[in-house]
Amino acid sequence: MKNYILDMTDNQFKVAAKSIIDKDYRLNQVIKWVYRNKSDSFENFTNLPKHIRERLNEKFLLRTLKIVNKEKSKIDNTIRYTFQTLDRKYIFAVFLSVNDRSSVCISSQIGCPVMCAFCYSGKVKFIRNLSRGEIIEQVLQIENDTGKRITGVLFMGMGEPMLNFTSTVFVLNSFLSNKEFGISKRHITVSSVGIVPAIKKLADKNFGVRLALSLHAVDEKLRERLISNNFGFRIEDILDAGKYYIKRTNSHLTIEYTLLKGINNSMADAHKLARLLKRHELVNSNVNVNLIPLNSLVNVKFQPPEHDSVQKFKDILRFSRMTVNIRQQKGIDINAACGQLGY
Ligand code: SAH
Repeated sequence: MKNYILDMTDNQFKVAAKSIIDKDYRLNQVIKWVYRNKSDSFENFTNLPKHIRERLNEKFLLRTLKIVNKEKSKIDNTIRYTFQTLDRKYIFAVFLSVNDRSSVCISSQIGCPVMCAFCYSGKVKFIRNLSRGEIIEQVLQIENDTGKRITGVLFMGMGEPMLNFTSTVFVLNSFLSNKEFGISKRHITVSSVGIVPAIKKLADKNFGVRLALSLHAVDEKLRERLISNNFGFRIEDILDAGKYYIKRTNSHLTIEYTLLKGINNSMADAHKLARLLKRHELVNSNVNVNLIPLNSLVNVKFQPPEHDSVQKFKDILRFSRMTVNIRQQKGIDINAACGQLGY
C-alpha cells in the first residue's frame, strides 16, 4: 500500500520519506510541488533527480479522489464537483467565484450524523470522517481544474467539521501554513451546528479563522425538531461557546439562520433572536448574522420564506444594531447551494 502524501504533515512525511530524501532543501522542494504548485504527479517535480521522483512514486500517492461529476451553474460561475473516494463513496465540493475572488466550499465527512431536517446532506447516511488529505485534495483538484488560485475556504459542504476535529485541525494548519497553502485566516470559515466542547478546543488552538454557528432557532424545542441529532447541546451554551471563541481568538463570528416559512421566520422570532444575541454580548463588530432563505429541496417538507418576511426579519435585527446579510443563493440551479449537497 502506498502512503497518501496529503494525509501527512511535513514532519510525518519527512520521517516516512527519510530513505529517499535526506536533505531539507529536497524536502522543501517536494512540499512546494505538492501544495504550492499543486502538482498531481511526481514526474512533474522537475527540479528533483529522476531516481528520487521514481522512488517517491513507488512509495507515495498524490491523489485519491476522482472527479466523477462536474456541473456549472448557468446563473453564476458556481461549479459543483462530485468526487469519488478510494472506497467508492461520494463527496461534494463547490467552487464559488465572487468579484474575481475564488473560494471553495468543502466537505468534512461522508454523509452527516447531525441530520438537519431541511438539509440534503443530512439525508446522506453517515459513513465516516474524511482524512486530512481527502479534505485538502478537494481544494487542490478544484484549483487544478479551474486554473484559479483559491484564496478562501468554507467548511460548509457535507458533514460537521467539529465532529471531525482531528482532521479539521490538521487541515487548518496546512491552509494557514505559508509553506503549504498560505491562505489568510480571515478567508477561512469553519461552520458548525454547535458542538460546544470542540468549539472551545478550536478557540484554544487560536488559529484565528472565522467561525460560523448554525443556530436556526431561538427556541430549544424547535431547534431539536429541526436538528435531529444536536448531541444535546443547548442554544445558551452554543452562544456562550461562540462568545468564548471571539474573545479568545479576536476573530469573527457569523450566526447562520436558515429561514423556513411559518416555522422560524416570524417577527417575534426576530425579536427573540435579537434579545438572545444581546444577552450573550454578541452584538458587536465581530459578529454578523447571515440569514439563509431555505433552498428548496425535493422530499423536504419545509418551504422557503416569502421575500417580504426575509426583509422584515432583517430590518428587526438591523434595528437592534446587528450586522445582517442575506445569503445569496449561489448555484441554486445545479443543487450547489447551502443544504443541497447530496444525491
Ligand atoms: N455542519 C455544518 C456545516 C454545513 S454548513 C453546519 O451545520 O454549520 C451548511 C449551512 O447551510 C448551514 O448553516 C445549514 O444550516 C445551511 N443549510 C442546510 N440546508 C439548507 C437549505 N436547504 N437551505 C438553506 N440553507 C441550508
